[in-house]
Amino acid sequence: MTFWVPAKIKKIVHWKENLIKISLKAKINKFIAGQFSKILIKNKNDINIQRAYSFVNPPKKKTIKFYITLVKQGKMSKEIILLKENKKILISKNSFGFFTLKEIQPSKNLWMFSTGTAIGPYLSILQEKKDTEKFKKIILVHSVRYFSDLKYLNLIHQIKKKYQNKLKIIITISRENKKNFLYGRITHLLLNSTLEEIIGTKIKRNNSKVMLCGNPSMVKEMFNILTKNKKMTKNLRKKPGNIIRENYW
Ligand SMILES: Cc1cc2nc3c(=O)[nH]c(=O)nc-3n(C[C@H](O)[C@H](O)[C@H](O)COP(=O)(O)OP(=O)(O)OC[C@H]3O[C@@H](n4cnc5c(N)ncnc54)[C@H](O)[C@@H]3O)c2cc1C
Repeated sequence: MTFWVPAKIKKIVHWKENLIKISLKAKINKFIAGQFSKILIKNKNDINIQRAYSFVNPPKKKTIKFYITLVKQGKMSKEIILLKENKKILISKNSFGFFTLKEIQPSKNLWMFSTGTAIGPYLSILQEKKDTEKFKKIILVHSVRYFSDLKYLNLIHQIKKKYQNKLKIIITISRENKKNFLYGRITHLLLNSTLEEIIGTKIKRNNSKVMLCGNPSMVKEMFNILTKNKKMTKNLRKKPGNIIRENYW
């Protein structure tokens, strides 16, 4: 059973008609970077709706931040987008999930793949820094549909400075061609070796761990490519492997 506590909306930034950043104050238990929380609100018919959202903030920061997209045909996101500052909603006291560096064995390279709002857990993990020493090089691959969806570019650059050469960033835009950015879907860029060529290293079973987060099609296709072509395996507590996954739907 989920134990709910009140959360006060401190700030909502409407970045775009379908993208918001929401900042909350709530007394929740400590979470691990990479985990998600649950939010519960009542819709206009007084019906409870709850959904999962990944923390963007690192655990050490008191303000809770979520990066949320509007799904027109969805129930929750269209209500969230209408919320106003100072309103109280409910958040789960505990956080959930195993999409954390704690679950991954040390390795030379750590590849982090995300689509859209699924950049969130990586921003939390990278700001927190805990357990990043398990890896020599970290490669963050962030895929968005349009250039205007790149809302965390400044934070990504700030984080990059802290890690210097250890952290490599690859941004790819899948639905428009923009100067200085890669064009195309993550799966395609892996299959045609573009990602490996940019980083100057091959993704191999014995040198890499891979995190996949976001769109289930990307997660599934990447998982299939990595298991078939690279002979990688799913990471399990009892049987450590290469790949951990988080599907957003
Ligand atoms: C572990 C976990 C963490 C999540 N973290 C986030 C997060 O940080 N930010 C966020 O926006 N969502 C996140 N989600 C998705 C979120 O829980 C909701 O599903 C989403 O807000 C849409 O809710 P809805 O009721 O409007 O639509 P739903 O009925 O939940 O979903 C309807 C459809 O919307 C699409 N969809 C759902 N989520 C997304 C998304 N993020 N991007 C693009 N299309 C989507 C899918 O096609 C889905 O079938 C997460 C989900 C999980 C399971």
